[in-house]
Amino acid sequence: MRHISEYRDASRMGPLLDAISASVARPINLMEVCGGQTHNLLKYGIDAMLPEQLTMLHGPGCPVCVTPLELIDQAIAIAKIEDVIVTSFGDMLRVPGSHTDLLGARSEGADVRIVYSPLDAVDLAEKHRDRQIVFVGVGFETTAPIDALAVLRARQKDLDNFSLLAAHVLVPPAIDALLCAGDVNIHGFLAPGHVCAVMGYTEYEALAERHGVPIVVTGFEPLDLLVGIHMAVRAIQTGQATVFNQYRRVVTREGNVPAQQTMRRVFALCDRKWRGLGLIPNSGLRLRSELSRFDAAARFGVAGLTARESTECRAGEVLRGALQPPQCVAFARECNPDHPLGAPMVSAEGACAAYYNHRRT
Ligand code: SF4
Repeated sequence: MRHISEYRDASRMGPLLDAISASVARPINLMEVCGGQTHNLLKYGIDAMLPEQLTMLHGPGCPVCVTPLELIDQAIAIAKIEDVIVTSFGDMLRVPGSHTDLLGARSEGADVRIVYSPLDAVDLAEKHRDRQIVFVGVGFETTAPIDALAVLRARQKDLDNFSLLAAHVLVPPAIDALLCAGDVNIHGFLAPGHVCAVMGYTEYEALAERHGVPIVVTGFEPLDLLVGIHMAVRAIQTGQATVFNQYRRVVTREGNVPAQQTMRRVFALCDRKWRGLGLIPNSGLRLRSELSRFDAAARFGVAGLTARESTECRAGEVLRGALQPPQCVAFARECNPDHPLGAPMVSAEGACAAYYNHRRT
C-alpha cells in the first residue's frame, strides 16, 4: 500500500476483524500505549467491533497527561516572574495545575505564548535579549530530539536568556512499571510507532522476554491497528513473548540513530514522577550537567515545588488502564473539554477526550 487512504480502506477491515475473532480463544487484555492509537481506535469504532473477549486497555502514552501537576505549577510560577515569556505547545496551556492553568496565568497578565517548535522559542530569545524565554518541554522520545536541538542551538548562539523546563519521559520504563505493579492484567502491548521510529525497538525485546508478553510495534491508521491487534492476539494465544514490527514502513530495529545521538548529547537519564504511576526510576530525561545553565527549574528556583493530585480526577487509574474513562463519575458531567478536571480531558491524545469526542453516548 502506498497511500494513506489505503490504510483506511473499510473493505479491508472485515477480513481482519474476522481473523482477530477467530484467533481469540480466551479473555485477552491488550494495551495500546499511545494516545494517538487510542483516539483512532475510538474514532474509527474499532474497539467496538472487536470480539467481546478482547478488551483494549488505554495506556500512559499521552505526554501531557502523564506530566505531573508540579510541572504545571512550576511553569505558572515562572510565568508570573517579570520579564519572562513562557512558551509551549497549545494543549499544555489548558492542563490544570493545583489552582489554575497557564491560560489562567496569561489572563492574569503573564506572558505565555504558544509555539509550534522549541526552535521558535530559541528565535524568540534571540529577538528579545532583554527577556527570559522558557520552553516547557514535555513529551516522549519523539519530542526529546528537537528539544535537545533547541538547547544546542541556544548554546551555539550563546543565548543566556533561553532555558528549558524539561519533563521528558520514556516509554519502556513505564511499560516495565505497569507490568511490575501487576494490579492490571495486561497480556500484550501495542507499542507506539512514532516513539519506535526514533528509538528502534531493542529496548522492548528485553521487556517482552523479562515479562513474558508480546509487544507489537504498531502504526496509527485503522488497518495498522487491526493488523497490530491481530499479530498481538496470535502471539498471546501461541505464547510468543517477543517483539513484532507491524510498522515496518516507518520503524527499523535500530531507529533514528542521529536523533538518538542528539538526545544523548543533551540529556541524561533521571528518575521521573509520572501522573498516575508515581516515581519511576530512570524513566525521564534531564539536562546534562555541562548544560545545566539551560535548566529553567534551577534558573528560577522552582525545582522544589510540590503539589498534591486532585482526588476528584481519576486520571491515574485511566493512565494505568485500570479504569475506562466513562467509568469515572465526573466524565461528561463535571469534567468536559470546557471545564476539564484532569489532563486526559484536555490533551489531544488524552483517553478521556477520545471517549468524549467519539463515544460520549
Ligand atoms: S473524566 Fe475527567 S475527572 Fe475523570 S479521569 Fe478523566 S480527566 Fe479525570
